[in-house]
Parts: sequence; C-alpha cells; structure tokens
Amino acid sequence: MHQPRNRVSRRLTPSPLREWLGHNARLTLFLLLAAAGMIAIYLYFNPDPGDATPIIEAVQGEGPLTAILPGNETEAQATPVAGQPTHRIGLIAGHKDNDSGAVCEDGLTEAEINYDIAQRVAVSLASHGVASDILSEFDSRLPSYQADALISIHADSCDEINDLATGFKIAATTMNDSSVLEQCILQQYYLTTGLAYHANTITPHMTDYHAFREINPAMPALIIEVGFMNLDRAILTAQADIPAEGLVQGIMCYVEKLP
Ligand SMILES: [Zn+2]
Repeated sequence: MHQPRNRVSRRLTPSPLREWLGHNARLTLFLLLAAAGMIAIYLYFNPDPGDATPIIEAVQGEGPLTAILPGNETEAQATPVAGQPTHRIGLIAGHKDNDSGAVCEDGLTEAEINYDIAQRVAVSLASHGVASDILSEFDSRLPSYQADALISIHADSCDEINDLATGFKIAATTMNDSSVLEQCILQQYYLTTGLAYHANTITPHMTDYHAFREINPAMPALIIEVGFMNLDRAILTAQADIPAEGLVQGIMCYVEKLP
C-alpha cells in the first residue's frame, strides 16, 4: 500500500516554477495584458514624428491653421495669397525732386519725361501683378533699398548733336552680377521701341551712378537713358507708352527668371 501511494504522490508533485505559475496564472495573465495595453496606448498617442510636420508648419505660418490661431493676425496678412504681388521693382524717376535734368529750347525737361514714363511703367507693372516704388533721384528710401531690382530712368540731351543722337543706353551696377536684368531690359526695350542701342557712348557718370552705391549692393540695378530728347522726342512724349512698355517687357522678362 505504501509504494503506490508514494509513486502517485511523487508523480503529482509539481516543480517549483510550475507550482508558482499554477498559483499565479491569473496574476501572470493580468500583467501580460496590462503591459500590452500600455504599449498600445503609448503607440497610439505617440505617432511617427513625420505626422507632426503639417502641424509644425501651420504654427510657423506655412499652413491654413495660422489664420485661426489667436494673435497671429499679422502673420496671416503677410502670407502671400493669390493675386497679391510677389515681386517689387524700384523705379527712379531721374532728377525728380532735385533738378530738371536736360532741357529743350521750348522748356520740355528730362525730369518730366522720366517721371511720365516711370508712372506709366508702374501702372502697367501693377496690371501684371508686380509692385513698384517710384523714387526721387535722391530719395530718402535709397540707402539700403531692397526690392527685386532697381531701374533708374533718364533721357539724353535735347541738343542737336548729329544724326546719331538717337537711341538708348544701359549701364548696370558693378556691385553685383546684374547681367540677367541688363539683357532682359536691353533686348525687350530694343524690340519694343525699335530704338538703336548706344553701347559705345556709356559714360562713367552712368556706370558710377550714385544710387548704385546707396542701395543694397546685392540687388540687381541699372540706369537707362531711354532716348535722346531731340531726335527721339516723339516716342518719349506723344508715344510714351512705347518706351514704358519696353521697360515693362524687360522687367517681366527679368521677373520671370527670378527663383
Ligand atoms: Zn538724367
């Protein structure tokens, strides 16, 4: 009788681990489920960092949330929207508010020709969605002036020099590479007005133009003599929309090449 009982009791006696698991099966299962649940909750509330990018951009003013964030009204207005100009051109109306520039015998002044063309350019640019500032010759805004480009509009002497005193000249600043602006204005002004280009009569007075030393030196800039006030008088006065359009076409050529 002793032997069988012994054998049975030995067979039924569990190992210490099995004994612990047997006594704690429910606790073990509970701990495993609790751990899995906490991991699931952690992952749910901590998405991939990439998912947060749109929210960060919106808060920084790049997205639509900006408009509804209190206190961000200024940033919302500064954000470009369709229809608002994204480019700006400075236009110096040569001699404006300083002197008359060249003068014809009948009193026609270079300053009035320059200002008339500058105004026509500004109106036309606005219709193309490009903003502009019309500046005086020594405008208080010129020091460190910043736009996409500066163009100073002048006209040549009204004196009867010779038959070659017709056409236009361009001198770009030497403070930076303004060749894209220069080529655009030169080509489009030539094509639109039909005036000759006087490359060989550009003076140091043009290349060392005072405004080039005042504005932001990194900004493309040039000075143009739009024509001679004697032989080119008709196109500079009665047909002033033509030289203005030549400048606008040149500016649009340049603006379209901007990044
Ligand atoms: Zn001038």
